[in-house]
Amino acid sequence: MERTFAIIKPDAVARRHAGRILERIENAGFQIRAMRLMRLTQAEAAGFYAVHRERPFFTGLVEFMSSGPLVALVLEAPDAIKKWRTLMGATDPAKADPGTIRKEFASSIGENATHGSDAPETAAFEIGYFFSGMELVDK
Ligand code: UDP
Ligand code: MG
Repeated sequence: MERTFAIIKPDAVARRHAGRILERIENAGFQIRAMRLMRLTQAEAAGFYAVHRERPFFTGLVEFMSSGPLVALVLEAPDAIKKWRTLMGATDPAKADPGTIRKEFASSIGENATHGSDAPETAAFEIGYFFSGMELVDK
């Protein structure tokens, strides 16, 4: 079993797509191990995306991720990191495969409905950034 960190981003929550995205997550066989509705400050969003701080889209990304409530999740499944990224689709919805979450729900490369960790080390950092050990529910 593997765990990954996921976000239903502020655009998807604002458009009331959180329920349908959670349904897709459950139908794909993920176990939800943690889940919280919350709003990030700009500093919290900047810390989460610190790896991107030199990129031209960083300021807009921080603005967007702190613009409204999001749903933070820990998902568990065999090969969860890759499995969740496959279900999300490409970063740019114009390039996302049919049937993926970003194809269906994202409106642009920036406001793209969901986040997913890209490697075991980033999953560990991201899960710890959002959740304490006691919030990970597995029994
Ligand atoms: N992003 C953006 N413009 C870009 C690339 C990325 O606004 O040209 C945003 C987008 O919200 C993306 C996030 O920055 O999801 C992180 O980028 P990354 O390359 O890590 O994509 P992801 O891992 O989310 O597919
Ligand atoms: Mg990424």
